[in-house]
Amino acid sequence: MTINIDTNLQHVRQRMAAAATRAGRDPEEITLVAVTKTHPWAYVARALAAGQRDFGENRPEEAHAKFREEGATADPAPRLHLIGPIQSRKARIAVACRPVLIHSIDRPKIARKLNDLALAAGVVLDVLFEVNVSGEASKFGFAPDALRQALSEILSLPALHAHGLMTIPPFDPDPESARPHFRALRRLRDQLRQEFPRADWSQLSMGMSHDFEVAIEEGATIVRVGSAIFGPRAV
Ligand SMILES: *Cc1c(COP(=O)(O)O)cnc(C)c1O
Repeated sequence: MTINIDTNLQHVRQRMAAAATRAGRDPEEITLVAVTKTHPWAYVARALAAGQRDFGENRPEEAHAKFREEGATADPAPRLHLIGPIQSRKARIAVACRPVLIHSIDRPKIARKLNDLALAAGVVLDVLFEVNVSGEASKFGFAPDALRQALSEILSLPALHAHGLMTIPPFDPDPESARPHFRALRRLRDQLRQEFPRADWSQLSMGMSHDFEVAIEEGATIVRVGSAIFGPRAV
């Protein structure tokens, strides 16, 4: 099977714009993160040539090898997002990836660890908090109340700058089943904005290949799309 990355990107962007317009939103306010996990640098290069700038990886080591080693001199430079859970022992390489955004702060311990490493490296990390709005036991992310309790500490960490929330709903092939989860994330964000008014809550990272249009209708500012652009992943 041949994958036409250029055509797929165009198609995804058109579908994003249509969903934004349906919801009365400006398509320009939504960022497409092209998820390249498991795919070679050549796929990133192809997407870069087609005008894509934001890319997502879920493993810090793979992200570093691809974006900071193989693709280190790419021009224009890609903007790397880390979107997967970060284990403590991978925190150092996550910081070395120099991500523009970490979507997946899912527990206080990793927030502290990343803050310490960022301070030592003299950088600031822009982050989102991953929330498990469905309450599914198998999912990563803070339960909403656990996040509230952790925030007064986490928001005071000097090298982490918060910008909003991220979620991954339980998988269901019907995109409509994700809608209540996306809506719940947005509602939680609106509440946190009242409760913690000094932090930036502008970003909602939600929506993947099969449900990004529903996510945009529900207020996503960032969608993370892999297979609809790069084809299926070998697992
Ligand atoms: C892999 C991944 C995606 C993209 O998934 P697709 O279904 O291929 O679009 C989005 N978000 C996260 C956190 C991922 O790990």
